[in-house]
Amino acid sequence: MHLSRPTSIFPLFASVTTLPGIGSRLGSIIEKKIGPAVIDVLRHAPVSLIDRRARPSIAEIVSGQMVTLEVVVTQHNIPPRHISRPARIIAENDSGEIEIVFFKADPNYLQRMLPIGEKRVISGTAELFNGRVQLSHPDYILPLADLAQLPLIEPVYPLTAGLKGKTLRKAIQAAIPKVVKQEEWINADIKEKNKWPDFDDAMAMLHAPQNEDDLNSLCPARERLAYDELLANQLALALIRQQTTIATKGKVIKGNGNLRSALLQSLPFALTSAQTRVLQEIYQDQSQDMRMLRLVQGDVGAGKTLVALLAMLHAVETGKQAVLLAPTEILAKQHYKSITSLLAPLNIDTCLLIGGAKTKAKTQILSDISAGNTPIIIGTHALLTDDVIFHDLGLAVVDEQHRFGVKQRMTLSNKGGNCDVLVMTATPIPRTLSMTAYGDLQSSIIDEKPPGRKDIDTAVINIDRIAEIVEKLRAKLSKDFRAYWICPLVEESDKSDVMAAEERFAILQRLLPDTQPAIVHGRMKADEKERAMSRFQSGESQLLVATTVIEVGVDVPEAGIMIIEHAERFGLAQLHQLRGRVGRGSQQSACLLAYKGPLSETANARLLVMRESNDGFRLAEEDLRLRGPGEILGQRQSGMPEFAMVDFAAHAGLIPYARAEADKIIANNPNLDGDEALKYRLLLSLFEKDNAIQYLNSG
Ligand code: ADP
Ligand code: MG
Repeated sequence: MHLSRPTSIFPLFASVTTLPGIGSRLGSIIEKKIGPAVIDVLRHAPVSLIDRRARPSIAEIVSGQMVTLEVVVTQHNIPPRHISRPARIIAENDSGEIEIVFFKADPNYLQRMLPIGEKRVISGTAELFNGRVQLSHPDYILPLADLAQLPLIEPVYPLTAGLKGKTLRKAIQAAIPKVVKQEEWINADIKEKNKWPDFDDAMAMLHAPQNEDDLNSLCPARERLAYDELLANQLALALIRQQTTIATKGKVIKGNGNLRSALLQSLPFALTSAQTRVLQEIYQDQSQDMRMLRLVQGDVGAGKTLVALLAMLHAVETGKQAVLLAPTEILAKQHYKSITSLLAPLNIDTCLLIGGAKTKAKTQILSDISAGNTPIIIGTHALLTDDVIFHDLGLAVVDEQHRFGVKQRMTLSNKGGNCDVLVMTATPIPRTLSMTAYGDLQSSIIDEKPPGRKDIDTAVINIDRIAEIVEKLRAKLSKDFRAYWICPLVEESDKSDVMAAEERFAILQRLLPDTQPAIVHGRMKADEKERAMSRFQSGESQLLVATTVIEVGVDVPEAGIMIIEHAERFGLAQLHQLRGRVGRGSQQSACLLAYKGPLSETANARLLVMRESNDGFRLAEEDLRLRGPGEILGQRQSGMPEFAMVDFAAHAGLIPYARAEADKIIANNPNLDGDEALKYRLLLSLFEKDNAIQYLNSG
């Protein structure tokens, strides 16, 4: 086998604008939707195919059939430009006559493409009108001599506004030869057992499907490319594990337990056994000289915050500081409020650090942090900036991890001189998936809720019945029983979402004036948001209209009804997360999933699962199962790795293999040095552009 030099993959990193037909305008569309580099368009897989092989006799053609016909042009019926009638061109062969129809076509173009008396190959979708066969705007019109240019089977790609199938196909075809043979990075046994093709062959096969089987996620070419992505992902995570935990010494924390037992004694309840078990795992990690990197998963309301606080107190018992990083200001403030009240009997200083101007107060907070006067620090991204200097950080807790990435959690830990890191997430993810997203972390699960929690009654209702929903709210809402009304994200731009939410808000204000509705959305200033939230928190407002800004962690025990408008647009994890905002008090709570029909099969299945189950872990498994390739599920979650070829429902079984392989590779060569590891570096640079390279270069 002839192998090329590693530099031969450089063309795969070139901009998509190096491909034929892609200028700067199309380039920026492709960059936004598919990715900036040649390798990204190569990973854009076809979803179906067009088969142009059928060459029926004209009499046999059925409506809707894709046909290729050899005909002679017999007659032109082309109206002058200013007349808005379609142009009709008649053509025939031995088996009959057809009509080729063009709406708004340039007459000169038609004369040139379809001259009378000439033979042409025409390919497109045929329709029957009054017994006549019509092809409007055929896909191909070629002189007989150019027949070879007609693709007999053509892959069809997911497209976006402004990007034509033909253009994208041409660009991808031109990209394929840029993939040249590389030294194989997949273990020979695994490759052999699965009968996987080489990387370059797999890419070529991906873009030249011959039948429906070739579009299946489990076909050898697609499976191989999915494995490539998973192996790259696991290699990146193994590198990070290697360099952050194994190669780096952490701090030993062995507290005397004073603060922790004082807190526990002040609580009106006991820890659940799941909380106790997870705390033991955390304390154990803290007491070792290896840096802790641990993930705590637990359903909404499982009591993660309390677990985190106890771990923080453990660090504080040894004279160190502990910090809690929240994804939004609203959440940071809420944590601050509940933690200060929990800590009131203990007499421990706590501070809140969020973004904004460097006021006198903020300067004071910063100097208290660096002097070590404040043991417990709570805040947002503002904690990650250079002006925050910790005195002696023992533990960093990152709440609601899915808003942060590997980089941020490492920044925080590094600022703390390799302090322990505890990551909390309320979005349970299946085990296999958690290996790809959190493979650099140890994992603990709080799989039990405090006793006495009621399930939330969930109903699925058509939004056409909004009048009924409003009447229900009118009857039920009070100062002690409040409701959220969630309007969804529509597109990437949050502008239209805000408009939708404001429109809904205006309607509800008019229909339910007594409830004093409030609104929060992403485009409001921090103080406006805060004012709206506090009106709702105090009960002055009984109805809060919001975009998904409230998604994470907001705690208002009096909130008993959650209405989610356009519930069909959300993924299961997100729906569950939103629903978890109610049912936090003692009253029976309800969730209304208001959809706009018609529902796709998958969306319907999602809503039904939501109605049946209140268990986040069960929902996470279902989410994976329902996730068909190509379907858009809710919003992208930042911090989750992005895979183009992996279809989790089909490929989950490959993950443990990739993990084991990656561990083996890194155990043999922890920094991937030398020629022997070059192939793995290539693999990483192809599929793990962000995470891994940074670690390779720093290592
Ligand atoms: P999470 O962060 O997991 O969603 P929280 O930590 O916010 O959950 O806890 C939800 C509520 O349950 C809080 O009001 C908290 O005080 C309470 N709580 C936590 N642990 C227990 C427990 N063991 N028994 C009873 N209530 C608890
Ligand atoms: Mg929480």
